[in-house]
Amino acid sequence: MQTKVGIIGSGIGALASAIELKKLGLDVTVFEANAVIGGKIVEQNIEGFRFDMGPSVFTEPHLLEELLQSLDPQQNFPYRALEESCRYFFNDGQQLVVPVQKEKVAQTLQSELGEDPVTSLRFLTNMEANYKAIYPVFIQISLHRWRHLVGYPLIKALSRLFKYGLHLSMNQQNRQYFKNPKTVQIFDRLATYNGSSPYLAPAMLNIISQLEFNEGPALPVGGMVQITRRAHELARHHGVKFHTNERVLEILHQNGTIQGLKTSNGSYDFDLVVSNMDIHYTYERLLPGLKSPRFLLKQEKSSSAVVFYWGISRPFPALGVHNIFFAEDYQAEFKAIFETKTLHPDPTVYVHISSKVENADAPAGKENWFVMVNAPIHVGQDWDSEIQLLRQRIIVKLSKALAQDIEPLIEAEQINEPRLIDARYSGKQGSIYGNASNNAFAAFLRHPNFSKKLKGLYFAGVTVHPGGGIPLAINSAKIVARCVQEDYPSLRK
Ligand SMILES: Cc1cc2nc3c(=O)[nH]c(=O)nc-3n(C[C@H](O)[C@H](O)[C@H](O)COP(=O)(O)OP(=O)(O)OC[C@H]3O[C@@H](n4cnc5c(N)ncnc54)[C@H](O)[C@@H]3O)c2cc1C
Repeated sequence: MQTKVGIIGSGIGALASAIELKKLGLDVTVFEANAVIGGKIVEQNIEGFRFDMGPSVFTEPHLLEELLQSLDPQQNFPYRALEESCRYFFNDGQQLVVPVQKEKVAQTLQSELGEDPVTSLRFLTNMEANYKAIYPVFIQISLHRWRHLVGYPLIKALSRLFKYGLHLSMNQQNRQYFKNPKTVQIFDRLATYNGSSPYLAPAMLNIISQLEFNEGPALPVGGMVQITRRAHELARHHGVKFHTNERVLEILHQNGTIQGLKTSNGSYDFDLVVSNMDIHYTYERLLPGLKSPRFLLKQEKSSSAVVFYWGISRPFPALGVHNIFFAEDYQAEFKAIFETKTLHPDPTVYVHISSKVENADAPAGKENWFVMVNAPIHVGQDWDSEIQLLRQRIIVKLSKALAQDIEPLIEAEQINEPRLIDARYSGKQGSIYGNASNNAFAAFLRHPNFSKKLKGLYFAGVTVHPGGGIPLAINSAKIVARCVQEDYPSLRK
């Protein structure tokens, strides 16, 4: 009889797991509480404007293509490699466009911010080497199984980690290399890739600059939603079953072994279960009575976000696909997010406009603005009044930077915020990536991809190892598949 696996949730970590486990010949069923498959990577049409509701930055597109091709070699995944990584706007009026490729980045940092190009190149080259050494160990394998860890790559990764990555914060390392505070701010921003603070996250995370500046971001043709749509279509085509509007209520187990799932529609027998639900809620809601690994789960949560989806009635040539309007006092902003759990009065505002390259995303002559501010997790703040205040502050900030009152140009609007992120996607307190990476050992303090207590229970998605972001969620699914193969040798292909 075929081994049966039930997957809880349908985010990219779940879809990648479904594909990986289908390749092993398993009978796979996915349960999604929402009406739509895709987790946070879903789209919405708001009065003629199309918006990707969650992620907008897509790196390492080859990972998705490889995933699809591993099930069907005919698959390809069309995307545009962007020539600009981001446009930056500072409060003093300075604007700069940072290109992709380290030589071009170094040139721009020299001409715009007075940085020594040799130093910039040295930094980016070092980060590339760190990335290549650290990725195979900290991202591609389980840190919780010795047999994954033994061998040369571990020693290489650890030696680079201790040399460059652990004893400094991202900000401290960036300040060692760059003299202009604006350059430091540009590199510090990469901590927000996984909802962390550059003043607390270890310098190891500066390897993200390999993705942002050396490789550069990509945009799938047809929008970010194509990531989950294509994975869903392929999985379905190959026999994965999908149940939407069906919430999993409990993970059933007996004598330390998985038995199945209880859902809003009934109970099902399964040999294996993969949870793509936020790891905190997996324990709190689906495993009552099971002792949870409290130390891992009590780590500081990653940030949340407030997003305004604005249909804008005219084009802005000064803006690109990705734009950042920086806060004057970046450190104070992160203190507000992580310490006082408030919105900073002068927030850093990220504006993503997919209609710059995907013309159909907005009516002719108009633009779809995804306007996001990093926010604290929900701890009972009065979000309704906070968000109204934030909206006014963003409008004032953007209107000043763009020399145009933008309020009258907003012709369509919708808002996403921490309470909704919690309610819609079951993200604990609205946190986007589970635990933050706000300490030197954060990589070791994420939940493993398997349960140490229940045989047959696995975990995939951004709230478990290896961490936040689409590429990491895809890697989590690969690790799950490897662990399943190890635990059930008869499944080995
Ligand atoms: C505003 C915003 C911006 C972001 N920007 C980026 C970005 O630019 N780049 C990036 O890489 N990442 C970004 N992220 C994070 C991004 O969403 C993740 O990287 C990725 O999409 C998360 O995938 P996941 O597999 O962990 O699951 P999720 O997408 O979180 O999906 C989990 C799914 O499980 C379902 N579920 C939960 N509990 C149950 C249950 N009991 N029963 C059934 N179903 C259940 C939920 O409904 C949900 O559909 C952003 C997130 C947000 C909110």
